[in-house]
Amino acid sequence: MTARVLDGKATAAVIRAEVAGEVEVFAAERGFAPGLAVVVVGDDPASQTYVRNKENACREVGMRSRVHRLSAGVSMRELLDLLDELNEDDSVHGILVQLPLPEHLDSLVVTGAIRPEKDVDGFHPLNVGKLQAGEPCLVPCTPHGIITLLERAGVPIAGRHAVVIGRSNIVGKPTAALLLQRHATVTVCHSRTPDLTALTRQADILVVAVGRPRLVTGAMVKEGAVVVDVGINRVDGRLVGDVDWDSVVRRASAATPVPGGVGPMTVTMLLVNTLLAAKRQATVPTGPWEAPDGV
Ligand code: NDP
Repeated sequence: MTARVLDGKATAAVIRAEVAGEVEVFAAERGFAPGLAVVVVGDDPASQTYVRNKENACREVGMRSRVHRLSAGVSMRELLDLLDELNEDDSVHGILVQLPLPEHLDSLVVTGAIRPEKDVDGFHPLNVGKLQAGEPCLVPCTPHGIITLLERAGVPIAGRHAVVIGRSNIVGKPTAALLLQRHATVTVCHSRTPDLTALTRQADILVVAVGRPRLVTGAMVKEGAVVVDVGINRVDGRLVGDVDWDSVVRRASAATPVPGGVGPMTVTMLLVNTLLAAKRQATVPTGPWEAPDGV
């Protein structure tokens, strides 16, 4: 068997075109386009690249974006004051603080200071709780992208056994919650899971979100499984995921590549979330991007 490639880049391009169309309608109806404010602290090169990608993605679909670049030494008070200003600004529908933050800034306090309806990263405790409760909310972008990619590829989820490796608040836990909402039977594994292979070999859908190259090999994958590789690792100057692609594609029925799988979906779901947030704040019917099934 050779796995079908779940092409995140192509799916993301389709979704961005849909979002661009909806932004045009929104702007025509309201007289302004949805707006995203990104706050970045310090000059970490990776964060600067992510922020530039987000700005470019907004421009591409006709959304407004503005970036607030703060020095690494900014105080908590100054950062919270800026977030207050953005919370009150009606032209800003989505607010995102690029993580990680310098150590003196508590990211829990910072994400909790963003108004939940503008929290396009889905990290505010209210959105985290609503996701667990299956209530409408803003869903973290990477898990949202994973589920959307599976759904757009026609991968059945209900009744399947989904195994998620990784239990972070950003990827593993929200992905497990979304799979559970879609009626998968979900197992979550982590660094203390004793026999990973015994569990991964039971997975109809295997999501790997760890950050270790080649953690998952073909021998760990059930014949015909769908494998989602979230990992981003740099090895010898190349980007690779957590999955040993060559051996896994011989057993899986479908798999996401790295690069070109989950990555492009993540930024795209930020656009989707910003559009959703703008529609909810501007009380325009949310249309096709009303999130399905209680999400
Ligand atoms: P974290 O470091 O926050 O979490 C990693 C998880 O993997 C933890 O739950 C950890 O367990 C678990 N883990 C570590 N070692 C093992 C092991 N040997 N066996 C099983 N589980 C293990 O990472 P993130 O969730 O933030 O990110 C995961 C990966 O996804 C990274 O490579 C990151 O770069 C990438 N990523 C990609 C995105 C994209 O858009 N494509 C977006 C976000 C992240 P424990 O909890 O016990 O420590």
